[in-house]
Amino acid sequence: MNIHEYQAKELLAKFGVPVPAGYAAMSVEEAVEAAKRLPGPLYVVKAQIHAGGRGKGKFKELGPDAKGGVRLAKTLDEVRAHAAEMLGNTLVTVQTGEAGKQVQRLYITDGVDIAKEFYLAVLVDRGTGRIAMVASTEGGMDIETVAHDTPEKIHTLDIDPATGFMPHHGRAVAAALGLTGDLAKQAANVASKLYDAFLGTDASQIEINPLAVTEDGKLMVLDAKVGFDSNAMFRHKDLAELRDLTEEDAMEVEASKYDLAYIKLDGNIGCMVNGAGLAMATMDIIKLNGAFPANFLDVGGGASKEKVTAAFKIILSDPAVKGILVNIFGGIMRCDIIADGIIAAAKEVSLSVPLVVRLEGTNVEEGKRILADSGLAIVPANDLGDAARKIVAEVNKAA
Ligand code: GDP
Ligand code: MG
Repeated sequence: MNIHEYQAKELLAKFGVPVPAGYAAMSVEEAVEAAKRLPGPLYVVKAQIHAGGRGKGKFKELGPDAKGGVRLAKTLDEVRAHAAEMLGNTLVTVQTGEAGKQVQRLYITDGVDIAKEFYLAVLVDRGTGRIAMVASTEGGMDIETVAHDTPEKIHTLDIDPATGFMPHHGRAVAAALGLTGDLAKQAANVASKLYDAFLGTDASQIEINPLAVTEDGKLMVLDAKVGFDSNAMFRHKDLAELRDLTEEDAMEVEASKYDLAYIKLDGNIGCMVNGAGLAMATMDIIKLNGAFPANFLDVGGGASKEKVTAAFKIILSDPAVKGILVNIFGGIMRCDIIADGIIAAAKEVSLSVPLVVRLEGTNVEEGKRILADSGLAIVPANDLGDAARKIVAEVNKAA
């Protein structure tokens, strides 16, 4: 689960991380009111979307010469003009894809004079199974480019969970950023507070880019991207409330209401499978037969009729879907109950595309008989390979 920059900074500030003062705004008036509460004389008007690269982004409606999604302002009138141009318009950045994202919230912050921009992130390193800090002197720009062109400028240190963050980690981060004296102390302090925030919120990533050195010698977090481990959100009710559903894929949000693990993909064969492993195998075998899956969908072990119906509706709401492959292993669930669920769901949504069903497991013969007697145009399959060949053939026939 991801949150907006302003939410991330408010959260980090609670852990003692230095951030510039700022206020969120949902309207032009609120933006001006926010600026009035700041000391000035420099303000920053920042589009709040769940994507980076806003500064270099372009607004679809404003043409190529207009400024991006992070703008400096020297007067309240400039704040007003920027806010009016940004709110409601669509910001396209390297991370949003071509469709872009509509800007519905702004963050108005105290502008700082930047002397230098660094990069500092905390994440889980799957290789070592530990929390790692990634530091680079090349902040402000696209870190993927730095990693690709000059990998020696990226320093990674992992933190032993038995000791947690130690003073030597702080010194290592400061050294990686080439800092000495008071700035080195500040860097060690920021790194330690970021580690506390990471652990304390069950974060999956905290990315600071830029971590700025100001002209008056202070380290400041100017941009923060924070994501949490969704599986831990049950113990952070306050953080779960920061979720902004308008930033997420509508079908994925709908699926999460029914506890369905759904990920939209680019192909045209909708998949309904129980178990993540079987779902992966199903996608593989569709590809092996020369077609592409339209989604990943794991209905889980105890799929009820309601869940199966919801899953069908979600799959069918994707206009790219030209056929559906249901692949269910009845282990805990009985195949006859699954067959009833499929028929009820297919009738309720008045199925308009070919449907191939492969059932295996407990009561499979009864399940197959129910499907055959249903009067619906369901194509039965005997095994996974057979199912994949049949759905690809059906979709090609219809095309
Ligand atoms: P991003 O483009 O989505 O990563 O948004 P950032 O918040 O990182 O802002 C992009 C760039 O705007 C930063 O790298 C800075 O160079 C600049 N910027 C952001 N805040 C300030 C500020 O307070 N003062 C100045 N002078 N520049 C800023
Ligand atoms: Mg940034």
